[in-house]
Amino acid sequence: MILPIYAYGEPVLRKEAEEITADYPNLKELIANMWETMYASHGVGLAAPQIGLPIRLFVIDGSPFAEDEPSLEGFKKVFINAYIVEEEGEAWEFEEGCLSIPGVREKVKREGTITLEYMDENFQLKEETFDGLAARIIQHEHDHTDGILFVDHVNPFRRRLLTKKLNDISKGKVDADYRMRFPKKR
Ligand code: ZN
Repeated sequence: MILPIYAYGEPVLRKEAEEITADYPNLKELIANMWETMYASHGVGLAAPQIGLPIRLFVIDGSPFAEDEPSLEGFKKVFINAYIVEEEGEAWEFEEGCLSIPGVREKVKREGTITLEYMDENFQLKEETFDGLAARIIQHEHDHTDGILFVDHVNPFRRRLLTKKLNDISKGKVDADYRMRFPKKR
């Protein structure tokens, strides 16, 4: 089932998400729905807060980037209760976008290599090191589970230029070719 993606301005996107346990209700179905939602909106990653759930869960499929980085072919993973335990290496800039912030793309500088502690979909604890675009996508999705959005990393000058666009998105004044949910008017 394709779920609506929560837009910039929805409070759930700013919450620090909670860990989950293996008995989380209908987890398999939830993960299947997240894949379906992510593919339908042509994303390479989707975090649970983006579908309204403040839990530490995100999915990634880096295959669309395989042309630039062959190791990403079939790089498809579920991350549960993930924490970045180390970030190192030279910081580099990459133009990021976000399904919750349609039409906005900005260069973001992040460190090159991360070590991540997480559980896979079978709740097997893992510690792995990632670099390149894999690290980049994970950093972006991991941020979502801490209530952080990529525009928070944009320099203050560029960020000011985005203010109107972000306000418009939060009011539903945006075109996206997938279903979205916008903050309720107060
Ligand atoms: Zn995002």
